[in-house]
Amino acid sequence: MKEESAPTIVAAARARTIVAAARARRAFAQARIMRWVFLVMLGFCTCANAEHTWRVVILPGADPTQPAAQEQIRAIRHSIAAAAPGGVEFYTDSLDDLRFDNAELMPSFLALLKRKYEHKQVDVVIGLADFALDFTKRYHDEIWPGVPVVISSVAESRKKDIPAAFAYVPTDFDVDGTLALAETLQPGARRLVIVSGSAKLDLRFAQRAADTARARMSRQWTVDVWSGLAVPELQQRLAALDRNAAVLYTTMYRDRTGRTFFPYEVVEPMAKVSGAPIYGWYPTYIGHGMMAGSVVSFEANGRNTGALAASILLGKAPRHGAVSSASMSHCIADLGMIERFGLHATGLPDGCELINVRPSLWREYRVIVLGAAAVVLLQALTIAALLWQRKRRRIAEDEATLRSDELARAARLASAGELSASVAHEIGQPLGAILSNADAAGMMLEDEPEEDELHSILADIRRDALRANQVVQRLRALLQKHTLDLVPLDLNSAFDEGLALLGLEARRRRIAVESNLAAQDACVLGDRVQLQQVLVNLVINAMDAMEETPVAERIVSISTRVAGTGYELIVADRGHGIPADATERLFDSLFTTKPQGMGLGLSIVRTIVSTHGGRVWGAPRDGGGSVFTVWLPSVAGHTLSPVRAEFDTSTEKAALKARPMPQGGQP
Ligand code: ADP
Repeated sequence: MKEESAPTIVAAARARTIVAAARARRAFAQARIMRWVFLVMLGFCTCANAEHTWRVVILPGADPTQPAAQEQIRAIRHSIAAAAPGGVEFYTDSLDDLRFDNAELMPSFLALLKRKYEHKQVDVVIGLADFALDFTKRYHDEIWPGVPVVISSVAESRKKDIPAAFAYVPTDFDVDGTLALAETLQPGARRLVIVSGSAKLDLRFAQRAADTARARMSRQWTVDVWSGLAVPELQQRLAALDRNAAVLYTTMYRDRTGRTFFPYEVVEPMAKVSGAPIYGWYPTYIGHGMMAGSVVSFEANGRNTGALAASILLGKAPRHGAVSSASMSHCIADLGMIERFGLHATGLPDGCELINVRPSLWREYRVIVLGAAAVVLLQALTIAALLWQRKRRRIAEDEATLRSDELARAARLASAGELSASVAHEIGQPLGAILSNADAAGMMLEDEPEEDELHSILADIRRDALRANQVVQRLRALLQKHTLDLVPLDLNSAFDEGLALLGLEARRRRIAVESNLAAQDACVLGDRVQLQQVLVNLVINAMDAMEETPVAERIVSISTRVAGTGYELIVADRGHGIPADATERLFDSLFTTKPQGMGLGLSIVRTIVSTHGGRVWGAPRDGGGSVFTVWLPSVAGHTLSPVRAEFDTSTEKAALKARPMPQGGQP
């Protein structure tokens, strides 16, 4: 072997160094290229991820059918699906460790998941709650190597246990806020009973609640922890509590006997018997008997978790170590429970969500109340309108009565005017006789007065003066201002007096008056003057109608008779009869067929008769002429007309129209 010189050795060493350096440079360059390739591939993968169907594995810590988990998982799925451009496949695997808590199951569960996902490219794994954290921490690399992990529903206190590479959605239960609510609603309570199950998580929560309660400075609670009691025993103990205690129920996944639950299932049996109100931080307990709590929103948490996972898959958030914002707890209280315990909701924080609020009468029956108010208002308005109308009607009636009285008087004056010739004659006759007798007495005194003869003359003068006076009295009675005065009176005697006024006029017109006042003891409740006016008006009309009638046939028949519960006055003539076109309007005021007529006579008759509770009607008379009948109730059958009829009331007309026009008889 040839020995080498020292310089040769140095040169060789240099050459080796150079070669090594060149190799290193090459290796470095290769590494850089590889890195670029890797980065390009990564970018490509990320882009590809954005386009292919995402595969998402969800690992709930408990049974995924539990209401809280359901709500959370639904929100996760919804958020991810909404962001996925190429759709999503979800896989859910749960060991239900919270209730089973069996380490021996783990190898089998692990083997199952390894097999399951051996040939499935998973894009993200979402672990919910402590079990999922523990599990993914240990086995994630074995089952889903390199796949990003998002952890949710793990308390901030365990944050240190979460690997830095995992994304994290902080979720915390507001133990402090829930205890603050208990203090507000039960200011007098001094005892806090924490109820939990005996599963690992149950105990952890109970411990945390007890620590928080003891740490609260605002209240010196006596804190008892009842963990893992079987429901009957728990119920027994709760029943012994009173309003001076508050119960904080955390969770009960399992009791000491090994019986498992969904925690919300225990709330109802507890609340049924508990003498103290129950608090908690799970929204799923409310409505089952929990009174109040500062509750976490599983829906909001699910949304945050899903959004973070989607951001990672879309490349918007780092694949490792991303942290989302925590979802806040909020106050919720069951007002029905608060009332049941005789407590007051006044101290609850603003914006506290209240459930079981008994609707106020107003809220419940608003439509009915408004409807009733509208009806009442309408009724009130109607009544006011009716009252106003009644008042106006009264005024109008009073006015009409006044006018009617005045008109009646005017009509009587008119009648008197018509009778004036016969009246003058009737007064003139006795006055003439008085004058003659006075002359005769005077002459007798100049000669030898015979005492007997003078007595006889004086007696004649007295009789004639009385006769004239009677005529004047009757006329005055008819003409004087008169107000209605209903008294029991004999109809026949009233009509007799009326006839006395008419007799001379009839004679003047060469008309015979036949009167047959046959109704015996015809006692009516009436106004003498007004009833006489009825007779006068009807008889004058009858006389007017017979102006063209041959003298021999000019007869006015006046009769009275009993008719049902009253009496009838019948005035019949042999005149021209009721004009065919006048039948309808006969009793209308101002209707007349006479050249000098006023058209008030029959209208006044009808008004007077209806004021007396009676009826009047006119009809053609057999053999020519007309017959007018007035029916008046007897005193016994009298019912006063409530409203004094006006001269031309439509009711009267309607009554007249509706009634056939019999010749006499009762209406
Ligand atoms: P007037 O006598 O001023 O016309 P009335 O009211 O007394 O007013 O009568 C109204 C009308 O009724 C008369 O114009 C007449 O046409 C008719 N009438 C009244 N009474 C009779 C009667 N007995 N016979 C025929 N028509 C009559």
